Amino acid sequence: MSHRYHPDPDRNDPPTALLWDDCERCDEQAADPRGLDHVKVAEAWRRMRQVELHYANRNARYLTANERRLGSYLYAVYVLVEHLGGVDARGRIGAEVSG
Ligand SMILES: [Zn+2]
Repeated sequence: MSHRYHPDPDRNDPPTALLWDDCERCDEQAADPRGLDHVKVAEAWRRMRQVELHYANRNARYLTANERRLGSYLYAVYVLVEHLGGVDARGRIGAEVSG
């Protein structure tokens, strides 16, 4: 399954969403992001922290419904890790994810 054409930041298209709506591949990746490359996962994690935790950008928002789905998935992961003790207060407010 490939993406239908949508703006691609790797081709110097204008700033764009991480995942688009009305694209079957983006729909799949929003539902199960385990196949995303590490660059996109890192960007999605950063955006999730901005939107869900209000980190660094209080006006951050998801740009598409699929971004919101992906962000909800990542936030659920974040909350689970936090419950397991993997995120302390400092991590909640700003330690960057490495790698
Ligand atoms: Zn797509």
